[in-house]
Amino acid sequence: MARDFDVIVIGAGIGGLSASALLARRGFKVLLLEQGAKAGGCCQSFQRNGYLFDVGSTLFAGLEEEGVLQRILKELKARIVYQQVDGNFGILIGDKKIRFFSQRARFFEEIRRSFPKDYREILEPYPKFEELADLVWDILKKEPIFPPHGGYRSLITRHFKKLQPLFISQNLVAGNLLKIKNPEIKRLVDGYLFFNTQRETSQSALLNASLVLTQHFKGLFSLRGGLQTFVLALVEAIKSNGGKISYQTRVDKILLKKGEAFGVRLANGEVISSWSIISDATIWNTFEKLLDEEEVNKRIRKKLRQIPQPWGVFCLYLGLSEKAIPPKLMDFNQIHLSKNSSHWEGNTLFISLSPLDDFTRAPQGKRAVTVTQLTFLDSWARDSTYHQMKEDYIKRTIRLLEGIFFDFKRNIDFLDAATPCTFENHTLRPKGAIWGIPQVPQFSGLRGFPIKTEIKNLLMVGDSVFVGKGVATSALSGYYAANLLTDYFI
Ligand SMILES: Cc1cc2nc3c(=O)[nH]c(=O)nc-3n(C[C@H](O)[C@H](O)[C@H](O)COP(=O)(O)OP(=O)(O)OC[C@H]3O[C@@H](n4cnc5c(N)ncnc54)[C@H](O)[C@@H]3O)c2cc1C
Repeated sequence: MARDFDVIVIGAGIGGLSASALLARRGFKVLLLEQGAKAGGCCQSFQRNGYLFDVGSTLFAGLEEEGVLQRILKELKARIVYQQVDGNFGILIGDKKIRFFSQRARFFEEIRRSFPKDYREILEPYPKFEELADLVWDILKKEPIFPPHGGYRSLITRHFKKLQPLFISQNLVAGNLLKIKNPEIKRLVDGYLFFNTQRETSQSALLNASLVLTQHFKGLFSLRGGLQTFVLALVEAIKSNGGKISYQTRVDKILLKKGEAFGVRLANGEVISSWSIISDATIWNTFEKLLDEEEVNKRIRKKLRQIPQPWGVFCLYLGLSEKAIPPKLMDFNQIHLSKNSSHWEGNTLFISLSPLDDFTRAPQGKRAVTVTQLTFLDSWARDSTYHQMKEDYIKRTIRLLEGIFFDFKRNIDFLDAATPCTFENHTLRPKGAIWGIPQVPQFSGLRGFPIKTEIKNLLMVGDSVFVGKGVATSALSGYYAANLLTDYFI
């Protein structure tokens, strides 16, 4: 029986876009359905008053040689202009500034200089973090499809030596290696892990923490023109290879026949069929909304209920004069305003400044600034208190920023804010949770949700499935999904 498309992709986030672009390029007949008016999901951007803001991500991995974004761009024959952020990203705590360098020796020297008495608390376990990260990257490179061909048994037989330390480590947390007493170092490491794994050192899965703590040696990157240049390159690749993108088109249901996915029903009732479906709509929406309860395995439903509570973010977008920027700030800064490690909301800010010479992002002498802070998702709801609460958060954040920037209020010429409700509205992510599953041992790596679901012809991509949160990892899931379908059909 004929089907309308080879592949229907639900959602134009980085995962959905990457899979769609690669499959279109490889000759598949692709339809990408996006409920919003634009592509990008958490990586959308918006333009106001001469400024171009990334709504979310500003600093990411994957553009190093052999990195997943490089591999995708190469296959698509697409180009973007990027820079490695080396020494221009760092953490500010008390009067200290700790910069992240790609050169190990320089980074280690920075830690030694900042904490002359206690530097060993961080540096001693670093070789182990590097060893584990190398093993993970090596397996990911050699087995570019997860779940692996031939199942996990065959994977173990082929890579036993490398997998053994990974299996042992998968039950551990970063705190099993890091024994930190110095409160400043504790806050610094907890904060870095919290923004990347949603959990502190004592809970953050060791393997994920190893990748996070060593990524700057491989490279952290930003894009000239912001993350939208990557999004636009993927959109262009889909279209130029004959793929179709339909915006403002919400999928209401994934349709199954005899347990196999065969199409989708849109919000307007239209039914479209395909040989396979890739969902970038998060595990929660896919399993709990797009499929009926009886269509989802009981074990999966139970696992979904056990996921620990993810965090949300509150963001301010500012158009700011260069005069406001103190010399201590780099382009990317995590700033700790207190050393209290158990208190994240309102105490740690991530501030990204567009590069001074990127005039696509801000007029001359100005910077497009994104300020991100963590917030409890349960505090937010679109009820009668919402607007007041948003105003209070804006005021509170401005007070914090007045302590960081020079003459802050006089130097702003644009300000807007996004709450978890804004992210929920624009991406449909439940409660506006934006970073996938918190990376604790019970839910990280192969214990997370795989790309290939138990439902035939249904794959999932994005930051709630293997490997987890972030731009590079969401792209990696799209890359794996495209490879799975290519191997299956061709
Ligand atoms: C404020 C913020 C800061 C961040 N900072 C960083 C960072 O510095 N570095 C980093 O690497 N990562 C960062 N991230 C995380 C990163 O952006 C995300 O992990 C990644 O972009 C998620 O991509 P995704 O493929 O899961 O799709 P999403 O971004 O979740 O997009 C999914 C898309 O699917 C669409 N959709 C959903 N349901 C349907 C439906 N039923 N029908 C049709 N369409 C649907 C949505 O509208 C959306 O466009 C940040 C995120 C945010 C929000």
